[in-house]
Amino acid sequence: MRNFRGFSPLFIALILFMSGARPSTEVPKPEEVKLRGNIVCLAEEMHTHYNVELFKSHDHIYGVKTEESKYYTLLRTSLAEAFFVDEQLHEKNLILNGRVFPNTQLLEITRFLSIKDGVVHELYYYCDTCYIRFVAPGNCDCCQAPVVLIEKPLNVDSTIPSP
Ligand SMILES: [Zn+2]
Ligand SMILES: [Zn+2]
Repeated sequence: MRNFRGFSPLFIALILFMSGARPSTEVPKPEEVKLRGNIVCLAEEMHTHYNVELFKSHDHIYGVKTEESKYYTLLRTSLAEAFFVDEQLHEKNLILNGRVFPNTQLLEITRFLSIKDGVVHELYYYCDTCYIRFVAPGNCDCCQAPVVLIEKPLNVDSTIPSP
């Protein structure tokens, strides 16, 4: 209490009241994370490890299993859409940047890369007729042809132009 020497008791009481009142109005902040791992169905993982009941036909609950075997549930955003619809991505070793929300294990992906043969790669979908990149599979916005998954070493020039 040395710092309060010289202040009136009323002033100290006011300070304590104000500092005590503040936390209730503050919303805890999401945690920025960078994870390494792969995409799994959390329901299947919990079935394997903890014998949770699992119907043969079920809606997959996709999430990330990190190298340290920590699980995060994936929020279905437009950037994460590919992980929900393209099973090719479930084979990849991934580096995921994102946000984890307070008191949850919910992950919002903000960036993703893969590691292939020890090299960091970009993952994206591409129309080689229109030279357009997409974040999720589907048909090209321009020519309607299906786009293809590209895994390209990061920061390396290639014949594929990147916008
Ligand atoms: Zn599943
Ligand atoms: Zn196209």
